[in-house]
Amino acid sequence: MGHSERAHALLSASGASRWMACTPSARLEEQFPDTTSESAREGTLAHELAELKLRNYFFSVDFGKRKLTTAVNKLKKAELWNDEMMGYTDEYLDYVKAVALKFKSQPYVAIEKQVDLRAYVPEGFGTADCILVGGGVLHVIDFKYGKSPNGRVSAERNPQMMLYALGAYEAYKILYNVSEVRLSIVQPRLPDGISEWSCSLDVLLGFGETVKERAELAIKGEGEFAPGEKTCQFCRAKGMCRARADENVKLAFSPDIGKKPPLLSNEEMGDYLIRGADVAKWLADLQKCALAECLAGNDVPGWKAVEGRGSRDWTDLDEAFAALEAAGISTAILWERKPVTPAGLEKALGKKEYTAHAANYEVKKPGKPALVKESDKREAITNKVSAAEAFKEE
Ligand code: SF4
Repeated sequence: MGHSERAHALLSASGASRWMACTPSARLEEQFPDTTSESAREGTLAHELAELKLRNYFFSVDFGKRKLTTAVNKLKKAELWNDEMMGYTDEYLDYVKAVALKFKSQPYVAIEKQVDLRAYVPEGFGTADCILVGGGVLHVIDFKYGKSPNGRVSAERNPQMMLYALGAYEAYKILYNVSEVRLSIVQPRLPDGISEWSCSLDVLLGFGETVKERAELAIKGEGEFAPGEKTCQFCRAKGMCRARADENVKLAFSPDIGKKPPLLSNEEMGDYLIRGADVAKWLADLQKCALAECLAGNDVPGWKAVEGRGSRDWTDLDEAFAALEAAGISTAILWERKPVTPAGLEKALGKKEYTAHAANYEVKKPGKPALVKESDKREAITNKVSAAEAFKEE
């Protein structure tokens, strides 16, 4: 099955963290179209490239160098192609190679394996990027092409990955003995983009029992709504869902009654920020929905759609600049010459070439202080001068 034609089951593996937490969401979402963003289409293209490279590495007899080159050249014609995909998919390939080499004997390898999840989820199926089995170990690897640090996905107890592992276990349990399950997510566009987790087969099968219970409710649209920042993030109903609206109104506007000091304490500040984390996002989603309604000619009392602020542009750049140069305006004024940034050069050259030629000249400047949740992996900073710094020798 082509990556872009991967069908989505009602209870998809990729949406499992949502429908397991908020069981009525799957049926509610059905009413909204499943749109594909440009970054999702870019991810699909990168997956296709990654698949070709794995096939060439593991099954070079059937899919040799020549077939690989022809197939890659075809992908290069795609609108969203970018040369940096070659470097990022190489990183994924290197990771999978290293995993395969760590097996005591050569593992069985399946690439882009469609796994049947019906033993756990009604009508459930999914496609695992890479599965390796052997020596009592079942290893499932997922390639993710997102580049936003907020989109970092952890492999630890990841429902999508655990479902793939359950599907893989069902497919291979007759042929292979499995006692340990390993899960890896490779996100090569993020620094520190590899997440790994492992568990025993018993833990995986225990998860399978929980999935069955949650899926039974979800398929019927039953259970409790469970709005939350992470849970609602990719839900198609997020703009119009009443449970999410009620929750955010409660978080944002219900006052804590009682006699309290006029200033908030630091504890209260932290608590408000945690409770209100989804409020701004919810309002933005609500605005999007209301705008779509207004544009469709429907009435949203108190609101209307207008044309936003436009921008200025040349009708025909070549013609305009030729005329301006003919009028004596120098090229130096017409064109801005800017040095390329390290990130821009890495994008243009690919990671390997960038590291070889330019990485020595790069310096990392600290970013602006940012407030993040305590669970964030980065080290906390303060602007308080320590005694050691204050008394250090000149
Ligand atoms: S928006 Fe949130 S609460 Fe509403 S259905 Fe979706 S996941 Fe559940």
